[in-house]
Amino acid sequence: MIAVQGIEKRFHRTPVLKGVSLAVPKGEVVVIVGPSGSGKSTLLRCVNFLERPDAGTITVGDLTVDARRATRAEVLRIRRSTAMVFQQYNLFRNKTALGNVMEGLTQVRRLPAAEARGRAEAVLAKVGLSDRLHHYPSQLSGGQQQRVGIARALAMDPEVILFDEPTSALDPELVGEVLGVMKALAKEGMTMVVVTHEMAFACEVASKVAFIDGGVIVEEGTPAEVFERTREERTRQFLARVR
Ligand code: ADP
Ligand code: MG
Repeated sequence: MIAVQGIEKRFHRTPVLKGVSLAVPKGEVVVIVGPSGSGKSTLLRCVNFLERPDAGTITVGDLTVDARRATRAEVLRIRRSTAMVFQQYNLFRNKTALGNVMEGLTQVRRLPAAEARGRAEAVLAKVGLSDRLHHYPSQLSGGQQQRVGIARALAMDPEVILFDEPTSALDPELVGEVLGVMKALAKEGMTMVVVTHEMAFACEVASKVAFIDGGVIVEEGTPAEVFERTREERTRQFLARVR
């Protein structure tokens, strides 16, 4: 289970997260929706300390840390158990698909090359890229590049994968293959937090949807509760715009 409690984050004294609490039970998929600038990326970045929160606690498994005071060792432990998939893939341009997935295994996990390679091939097979191991990002479609991004996250064997608008940079015809991989992971019981505007995906896969606006979670519940039996006017207005 992963959870955040009372997370606050300011940039140059401007509050961006104003006390966000969210629990993600093991094996569940939580989808975060909300307007641009509402703090979705910042929240994900706070969970794995790409940003240092100003207040709140973060729990991953049996470790709960005071986010503001977390030691280097605690930050490393949390980073190790959380993997991130970015909108812009963030692949190394000068490395093949295999090289991109092996990088974290050899450099961060210090696995021997042969073992890293075996593991990288296995996760690339899982995302349907066994025939693209030696292709460079420039030789891959956006959908394939994002699947490499997912394989790279999977390779680290995380407790949870954090997806930040993983399909937003893709041409529409490539969105399905990435969502398909994500659905398969969800079915296998991977714990996932997904920021997305793909409402159909949220309806089908999410155990919980959280609507965030202005740095606070305005409303959360099952997809049916949030999308069909919407309680808050701000949620209703947002949904009317994206539907
Ligand atoms: P979202 O992902 O929901 O679009 P973000 O979390 O990226 O929103 O951003 C929330 C707000 O925080 C925005 O107003 C954004 O400009 C601001 N912000 C995000 N990152 C930084 C940063 N590193 N420095 C200053 N302001 C930032
Ligand atoms: Mg964002």
